[in-house]
Amino acid sequence: MKHHDIAIVGLGIVGASAAYAAARAGARVVALDAGVAGEGTSGTSFAWLNSVRKEPEAYHRLNANGMAAHRELARELGAAAGHHEGGSLEWATGDEPERELSARVARLAGRGYPAAFLPRERVSAMEPALIVPDDVREVAFYAADGWLDAPRLIRALLAAASVRGADVRERAPVRSLRVRERRVQTVVADGGEAIAGSVLICVGASTHEFLSPLGVSIPVGRVPGLLAVTSPPAQALRRVVHAPGIHLRPDAGGGLVLGADDVDAPAAEARSASTLDELAALLLERAGCVMPAVRGVKVVDRRVGVRPMPADRHTIAGRIPGLDNAWVIATHSGVTLGPLLGRLLSDEILGGVSHATLAPFRPERFAAARD
Ligand SMILES: Cc1cc2nc3c(=O)[nH]c(=O)nc-3n(C[C@H](O)[C@H](O)[C@H](O)COP(=O)(O)OP(=O)(O)OC[C@H]3O[C@@H](n4cnc5c(N)ncnc54)[C@H](O)[C@@H]3O)c2cc1C
Repeated sequence: MKHHDIAIVGLGIVGASAAYAAARAGARVVALDAGVAGEGTSGTSFAWLNSVRKEPEAYHRLNANGMAAHRELARELGAAAGHHEGGSLEWATGDEPERELSARVARLAGRGYPAAFLPRERVSAMEPALIVPDDVREVAFYAADGWLDAPRLIRALLAAASVRGADVRERAPVRSLRVRERRVQTVVADGGEAIAGSVLICVGASTHEFLSPLGVSIPVGRVPGLLAVTSPPAQALRRVVHAPGIHLRPDAGGGLVLGADDVDAPAAEARSASTLDELAALLLERAGCVMPAVRGVKVVDRRVGVRPMPADRHTIAGRIPGLDNAWVIATHSGVTLGPLLGRLLSDEILGGVSHATLAPFRPERFAAARD
């Protein structure tokens, strides 16, 4: 059996990024997914590339570096990187939300993140399809933000990794890791075992159940969210928009992607397809209030995606406690962070380096909290 340098389990944005980085570094890579790469959470994500509400500062910096990693990939892979620039817009209504937004814009600008208020006339010129309510005088603009066609990037990363010799296996669920004396010896998957010097687990929302049989507890919860995709509106939207009660962005198919924070909990509890249809119709109605062209479109798809959510909401990336050659990445905001985390962990695993920026995000912090 061929001996690989690294086995990567799970090919969403995180695992596909790691596979690309490792293959690019010259490693012999085997990369496995239980289903079709990119059809997990990464395929049902709002996919806003940003570091706007990421606290504390170390987490903000990590996400800002994640955005830079996307720009690098876009230079390397061109349009296949699925990277859409243009910034994002946000406004608030009501005293407390307005105060919070002002404070946040000032804090972000103070950290060097492109964040500023624009007068509403300027916003109307940038986004003629939007109606900003009359009582909103200023709109926050985050010029470096964007959105990602994540399935497209995942396909491009795996194609580029394959060209460099990576053995990419889809519909190959990994059933177990065979461990001997703190080392993973083989990865046992449907369709054949794989032998590798190191193993990187990138199974997203399945992290906890995947690692539990090894006696390892990495606390990653599952937080569902609803997204509705529309048919193309008569007037296009150019960038990501966060308005009170609705967020929307352009989609790769020419339509819009809609979501709202307060709709996620009822969507998670929905017991029938018709309840989800009603919630999607609610998103459409709200979107129509800020973008009149939405009134002429239909919902063509609505899906519930499951966010991998670490217990303290921050990235988990590093060697798995108790194992010498196995590593894990599990994170929310994985669309923003995937290419960066994949590259950093590939570096650490293959090159034996330790990246200081990851120090606050190691899996050990949960073990330490239990002591
Ligand atoms: C509604 C919603 C909105 C979001 N909005 C944003 C946003 O605006 N910006 C942002 O950055 N992030 C956002 N996120 C979060 C982001 O989408 C996720 O953090 C990211 O997609 C996680 O990527 P992943 O590669 O870790 O997981 P996934 O994409 O789920 O990939 C994991 C893969 O592991 C595979 N797998 C599982 N078990 C096994 C096994 N036993 N063997 C082999 N393979 C296995 C699965 O098949 C899957 O393909 C959002 C998420 C949701 C649901």
